[in-house]
Amino acid sequence: MRKNIKNYDLNDLKEELILLNEKPFRAEQIFKWLYSEKVNSFNEMTNLSLELRKKLEENYSLGLFKIEKKLESVDGTKKYLFDLQDEEKNLIESVLMSYHHGYTACVSSQIGCKMGCKFCASTGIPFSRNLESGEIIEQILEIEKEENIKISNIVFMGIGEPLDNYENVMNAIKIINNPKGLNIGARHISISTSGLVPKIYDLADRQIQCTLSVSLHSSNNKTRSEMMPVNNSYPIEELMKACKYYIEKTNKRISFEYALAKDNNDNLEDAKELVKLLHGMLAHVNLIPINKIEDGKYTKSTNENIIKFRDYLNDHGIVATIRRELGSDISAACGQLRKQNLKE
Ligand code: SAH
Repeated sequence: MRKNIKNYDLNDLKEELILLNEKPFRAEQIFKWLYSEKVNSFNEMTNLSLELRKKLEENYSLGLFKIEKKLESVDGTKKYLFDLQDEEKNLIESVLMSYHHGYTACVSSQIGCKMGCKFCASTGIPFSRNLESGEIIEQILEIEKEENIKISNIVFMGIGEPLDNYENVMNAIKIINNPKGLNIGARHISISTSGLVPKIYDLADRQIQCTLSVSLHSSNNKTRSEMMPVNNSYPIEELMKACKYYIEKTNKRISFEYALAKDNNDNLEDAKELVKLLHGMLAHVNLIPINKIEDGKYTKSTNENIIKFRDYLNDHGIVATIRRELGSDISAACGQLRKQNLKE
């Protein structure tokens, strides 16, 4: 089987070329074709010899996707359903949001998700496999080509748990960061995790400059375990210990995500508990009005409660903002992504 050429960061591609008895500097030329020119075939790489183009074609694929469906929200957010063109005909979703500071792509890291969070639509689909690095990269490239834009921010908040596909995600980030690759700085990348504690320690030790978002959603183990089974493996005490280690090691602020569900985690007692938990930490709280999923038991908090919750946090020394809801009319908002858009 041909390997996806977009799985390789520049140095690794140089190694590949050496194995093919080619000069390593060709890797830089290929990178330019892949990530600046965004070509759709090896044949378009016109500064490479015909022989090399043929060799590449025989050994590698370009990992191109087909846009199966594209939906546009009234707020301008766009959602893509990509056909990965692999043997299993897998489909994934990615989202493009436009902000005044530029374009943000929300990418998927796995086909399906193992975490089983009760409030998330990605839970309704069985896990089939990790995405390769090239498949993470391709989501960004396909959107840039389709829209004729340059994406400036990446959030790993689509389908899947990025830290459960750790190596491929870390490698994709190298290609995203590489000035000769997608050239998006680490500070413009957010990784969101349901709280895989050992990987948080690992990220801290790597001194990675990306923003870490941790899906907290409750400050007590009972409610958090009900919402997120991962809490049974890594309860709040262990999670917070890892977060504190991360902050100490990197001197970076962690963004805690907290999806507010009516009568579940949204009353004043919950806000008090959260203040206690995050007291003194370099943290920011991102409040998300929960998006109800089909057959889901969690419903959105009232606007009044959301604002009260935020104000309580802000009044007690915890910086909290309410995440602007984008794309909910096309099921592109938080927790609404699926492997396959079955409806319509
Ligand atoms: N697996 C990663 C990334 C997933 S999605 C993680 O768990 O962090 C990004 C964010 O959307 C997470 O904070 C997730 O908990 C949240 N989310 C999932 N379903 C949601 C829903 N129905 N409403 C609001 N936020 C949701």
